[in-house]
Amino acid sequence: MHSKYKKIEQVVSRLNMPSYRYEQILTSIFTQRISEYTQMYTLPKQLRCALANEMGNSVCLVRPVSVKAAKQAGKVLLALPDGNRTEAVALRYERGWESFCISSQCGCGFACRFCATGTIGLKRNLTAEEITDQLLYFYLNGHGLNSISFMGMGEALANPHIFDAITLLTDTRLFGLSQRRITISTIGIVPGIQKLTRHFPQVNLAFSLHSPFEEQRSELMPVNKKFPLYGVMNALDGHIQATGRKIFIAYTLLYHVNDSPNHAKAVANLLQSRGSWGRLYHVDLIPYNPTDKTTKEYTPSGRYRIRQFYEILKAEGISVTVRAQFGSDINAACGQLFGGE
Ligand code: SF4
Repeated sequence: MHSKYKKIEQVVSRLNMPSYRYEQILTSIFTQRISEYTQMYTLPKQLRCALANEMGNSVCLVRPVSVKAAKQAGKVLLALPDGNRTEAVALRYERGWESFCISSQCGCGFACRFCATGTIGLKRNLTAEEITDQLLYFYLNGHGLNSISFMGMGEALANPHIFDAITLLTDTRLFGLSQRRITISTIGIVPGIQKLTRHFPQVNLAFSLHSPFEEQRSELMPVNKKFPLYGVMNALDGHIQATGRKIFIAYTLLYHVNDSPNHAKAVANLLQSRGSWGRLYHVDLIPYNPTDKTTKEYTPSGRYRIRQFYEILKAEGISVTVRAQFGSDINAACGQLFGGE
C-alpha cells in the first residue's frame, strides 16, 4: 500500500537515520498533533527539511475549502490534491462523544434515486490516504476520534482502497481505532461484504435496505439488479454467522413510496425468515432529508407514518429505532452530501 506513512519510513531510512526517528514522527502527528513537518523540533533539521521537500510541508493532504457548523454537526468541504472535492461531517453527541462521517469516493456512480451524491456520478475512488486524511484533518484540529462511519459520499465497498484505509485506521501506531469503532455502510455489494467478513470481522456493518420488495428496490436503487436483495441477505447472514455481530438495516422512509404498513410487514417477514440470525438485525428508520439536488418526487414521511411503521416492526418483535437527525439544516445528513458549498 502506498501511503504517506510508508513514504516517511523510506525518507528516514534513505537518510540513514535510526528507525526511532520514524516513531518520533508518528508521535509528533498522533500524540502532539503537529501538522507541519518543519514544526517537528524533536527531529534533526536535515530530516525535517527532507520530509517537507518530499511530502510537502503539510502532514494532511486534504485542505478545508469551507466549514459549516450547526449545533451538533459540522460539515467540511475538503479539497483533494488533484482539485476534486469531498465532504466529511463531524457529529457531536452528549458527554463530548465525537463521531465522524467520512467519504469513500468522489461522487458516486450508483444513482440511488433519493440521494444527492448519486446525482453527481462517480468522479473517482478516494485513495486510502485521502480517506484517512479526512480524519487526520479533524484530529489535527483538536477533535477526539471516538468513532467513524463511512456514510459520506460514495459506496465504501465499491472502492477497493477501503480495506487499506481500515488497515491504517486500526494500526495502533497511527489512528489506533478498534474495528468496533468503525461502521461501513453499504447498499449491498456482495463481494465487498464477504471480504469485510473475512478480513475485518469486528467492523460494524450497516445495510441500506429502503424497500423489502425486489422490484421496487431495483427502481429506487439500481444496484439491486446486479446484487438482488435475496443474495445480499444471504451474504449478511453469512457475516452474522461468521462474526456473531449485529447488522444495522438502514431504512429511509419516503412518503407513500416505501412507508406503508405492507412495507413494514414485509420488512418484518424478511428479517423473521432469517431464522436464528434474525435477532441480530437491527432496523434504523431514517426520516428522509430532501435537498435541492434530489428529485422532487420524494417527500419525507410525517410523524404519524413513521410511528406506524415503527410500531408494526416493534409488534413483530423486530429490534428497531428511529434515527435522530443531526445536521439537516446544513445539508449534512444522510444522502445530502454532494461536494458543493
Ligand atoms: S445512497 Fe450511497 S450508493 Fe446510493 S447514490 Fe447515494 S452515495 Fe451512492
